[in-house]
Amino acid sequence: MPKEFSVIWFQGAACSGCAVSVLNSLSPTIKNVLLDELVPGKHINLLFMPVVMAASGKSAIDVIIDAEKNKSGEYILIVEGSIPKNDFGDVAEKSMEDSVEELSKNASAIISLGTCSAFGGIPKGKPNPTKSKSVQEFLNSKNIKIPIINIPGCPPHPDWFVGTVANILLFGIPQLDELSRPKLFYGKLIHENCERRPYFDKGKFAKKFSDEGCLFELGCKGPYTNADCPIRSWNSGVNWCIQNGSPCIGCVEPEFPDLEAMYKKTHWSEEK
Ligand code: SF4
Ligand code: SF4
Repeated sequence: MPKEFSVIWFQGAACSGCAVSVLNSLSPTIKNVLLDELVPGKHINLLFMPVVMAASGKSAIDVIIDAEKNKSGEYILIVEGSIPKNDFGDVAEKSMEDSVEELSKNASAIISLGTCSAFGGIPKGKPNPTKSKSVQEFLNSKNIKIPIINIPGCPPHPDWFVGTVANILLFGIPQLDELSRPKLFYGKLIHENCERRPYFDKGKFAKKFSDEGCLFELGCKGPYTNADCPIRSWNSGVNWCIQNGSPCIGCVEPEFPDLEAMYKKTHWSEEK
């Protein structure tokens, strides 16, 4: 019998885009991830995930209550979305803050999936009407010390999530950067591997969309954004932002979305 790893996927202030992105994993397919052994002898047992679970109402919430009471230290908690202040979001008549606090205390590890969860993202963007916090900020405010892995992205690439979980099952927690992101996926700047880099080095900059040249003058945040999009690509290798003619908007960084207007040139050395 394969060893079971219980997972609770909790959604805070989020658009469900991270869930949709991960559900589109193609290699392995999400069916393989959820029903088969993700790595030899180890199987993910997804106990709770609002986007795909058939249960609703009391029977769904009972899964969370049971995990909090009877599975302490035995499940991995995935949080998608930021944590809004009380009054701005309830789960079964309990505030999101209280729900995440209870679930976090009893988790063996936490994965903050997506930029909203990892850094606050869109909900925390100015003026932050729901007083949202990232999961790490929220846990710090409650003095909860549980290992946390951030997998930012708006949305995150399915490989970043599935690869991190597979790495945990095979080898333990992967090497993380100073923002708790796996170096495996976030270890290099977009700018280092960008196919338009020769244009940057020669000073040939696009002045409008669809021009040939580097997209820096059109607001590209690739010089200070850490992700492997240029070498991994998206949609199973079909394309990625810059190949498609759009500047990188820095969606995996803590400053997203407030650093600068998305398509405005950013002077990162002074302003970051
Ligand atoms: S398009 Fe962006 S990432 Fe690519 S070379 Fe220009 S500034 Fe760097
Ligand atoms: S290229 Fe930039 S904006 Fe596009 S997905 Fe990668 S990190 Fe996000």
